[in-house]
Amino acid sequence: MSRDRAARPVAASRPARERRPATATWPPLEIVRSAKRRRTVSARFTGETIVVRVPAHMPPADEQDAIEAIVTRTVRRHRADRRADDAMLARRAARLADRYLDGVRPRSVTWSDRMRTRLGSCSTRSGDIRISTDLARHPDRVLDAIIVHELAHLIEPNHGPAFHALVDRYPHRQWADGYLEGFDAGRFARVVDPPSPDDEGPPGASAAHATEPS
Ligand SMILES: [Zn+2]
Repeated sequence: MSRDRAARPVAASRPARERRPATATWPPLEIVRSAKRRRTVSARFTGETIVVRVPAHMPPADEQDAIEAIVTRTVRRHRADRRADDAMLARRAARLADRYLDGVRPRSVTWSDRMRTRLGSCSTRSGDIRISTDLARHPDRVLDAIIVHELAHLIEPNHGPAFHALVDRYPHRQWADGYLEGFDAGRFARVVDPPSPDDEGPPGASAAHATEPS
C-alpha cells in the first residue's frame, strides 16, 4: 500500500487481483482490477475482507485515493450497521427475558464475529452476553434459543437441573437443538460452551468443541 508503488506509471503491470493485509483501521482488502469497468469503484464486505473493484486502467495514484475513500466509507457504514444490529439484539433479549426469564437483564448483549467455536457466551461476572454473527443465517428460533440460553446463565451459571428448567421455558428449545445438530453435527455438537469470564479466550481454548466440518 506504499505510495512508491502507487507512483509507478505502468498501470498495466498491476495484478488483476491483489490482497492487502489488515491495518490498524482497515480490514484486509482484495483489490480487483477489471478491464470492463470504466470509471466506477465499488466496495463491499465479503466475510471479513472488503473487496474493492476498480477500473484496470485507472492511474495508480487515483486508484489509491479512490480505494481510501471508498474503504473509509464502507468501514464507517459497516460500524453503523453493527451498532443498529446490536440495538436490535438488545431489544430481542429484553423481550425474551420478560417473557421467559423473569425480566433478567444482561449488562450488554452484542454480536461477535470472532467466535469460531461457540454460538453464544455469557460472562456471569460482568453480565456481558455475546452472540455469534454465524447465527444471523439461521432461523430466528435458533437465535432466540441461544439468547435464552445465555440469559439463563445470568440466573444459573452452571448447566444443572435448575438451568435446564429455565431454558425449557422457551418452547422451541428442543427444536433449535435438533436443528443445530442436524445442520452441523460436528461443529455444533454442543450448542454453547459454559459461561466464561471472557468471550473467546486464546485460540484453542475451546478445543473440545472446535471440531470443524470436514
Ligand atoms: Zn451454557
